[in-house]
Amino acid sequence: MKKVMFTVFLLIIKFSVFSQNIALNNYQEGQDNWEVLLTPLVEVNDMLRHIYSDPFKENFINAIPAGYPLRKAVNINSFYGFRNHPVHQVTIFHRGIDLKGATGEKAIATGDGDVIETGFKTDLGNYIKIKHCYGFESIYGHLSKISIKKGQHVKRSQIIGEVGATGTVTGPHLHYTLKKNNQYIDPFDFLFMDFERSSVSLK
Ligand SMILES: [Zn+2]
Repeated sequence: MKKVMFTVFLLIIKFSVFSQNIALNNYQEGQDNWEVLLTPLVEVNDMLRHIYSDPFKENFINAIPAGYPLRKAVNINSFYGFRNHPVHQVTIFHRGIDLKGATGEKAIATGDGDVIETGFKTDLGNYIKIKHCYGFESIYGHLSKISIKKGQHVKRSQIIGEVGATGTVTGPHLHYTLKKNNQYIDPFDFLFMDFERSSVSLK
């Protein structure tokens, strides 16, 4: 009986290693179940349910914008949603979250992806836009410095620029926006999505 139990135990171990390899291979080939299940989702709660319920999420998590766009714990100045604009003094929709930061502090990519846009806009100042997997995009605004180039591939946590006060601002901070399937979403839950990273390197 003991021998049978042990064999079953071994099979379970073997199967879980096998499944992890499948998940990892699929991530690398870009043919994973997140592509099928997460890509069509547009509601944040549906995305969170999908992400948190996957036992192999650590294998995929670097591919989406998750965690802080600064190298320190974040401090929120202004949330996503309607607010009285600090400069224009009118109620407008804030399409991102403002994080406290001093000029020159390093801004980092929240996920692996491709830099699809860099430039300057009157409201956003110097900005960077990164395209990630599954329909996600992250945007970093009011930068004093842009350290990467359009077309470049970046890894999660890679330095992409420095915090600044360019554009329409009252002081230095990082404006952080997330888009999913071309729609703005509240980045709040994604900021605090910081799983224990898998020991498996995806580099
Ligand atoms: Zn902002």
